[in-house]
Amino acid sequence: MNRFFTIFYIMKYLLFCLILSACNSQPGNTVPSLSSSNAKNYAPVSDSIVPAQYDAAGKLIRFEKTDAAWKSILSEQEYAVLRHSDTERAFTGDLWDNHEKGIYTCAGCGLPLFSSETKFNSGTGWPSFFQPIKPEYIHVSTDTKYGMVRDEVSCARCGGHQGHVFDDGPQPTGLRYCINSVSLNFVKN
Ligand SMILES: [Zn+2]
Repeated sequence: MNRFFTIFYIMKYLLFCLILSACNSQPGNTVPSLSSSNAKNYAPVSDSIVPAQYDAAGKLIRFEKTDAAWKSILSEQEYAVLRHSDTERAFTGDLWDNHEKGIYTCAGCGLPLFSSETKFNSGTGWPSFFQPIKPEYIHVSTDTKYGMVRDEVSCARCGGHQGHVFDDGPQPTGLRYCINSVSLNFVKN
């Protein structure tokens, strides 16, 4: 009798595992549960500008994807930085020393976040800007990781982590948006 129950429970466990693995192997582009009423599912990661769109109430329409979907379309480093707030090593990115004229877009959704007109050499090894293209394109929140209190900067449309903002930047704003190269794409003018 005991043996029967042992086999029964093993079978039940295996069935449970099978169901779990089936759930996890769903394709990445399944429709996520949307946290924002005006959010919509968004397909491509773009290396060109994808202009902001607004709903009838004038709110920026957000792009949302499941974590699995982001993982399937971003590179390993983009995923770590954009979706899990990792930081690239200083002086390793491809944009900190870029002096061309153009627009820096979110590497996750193509929203134009910064212009070369507001980029400056901060000496930090990360692309640095004194203001975003529009304040509403940037979301600033408090980050208390590593025992520090910092203002974290993310893309207001897809929520992708960009970097941090500090108050030791140049005029006219006095701000320094310290951004990961990997969070940005550059679109030359
Ligand atoms: Zn974005």
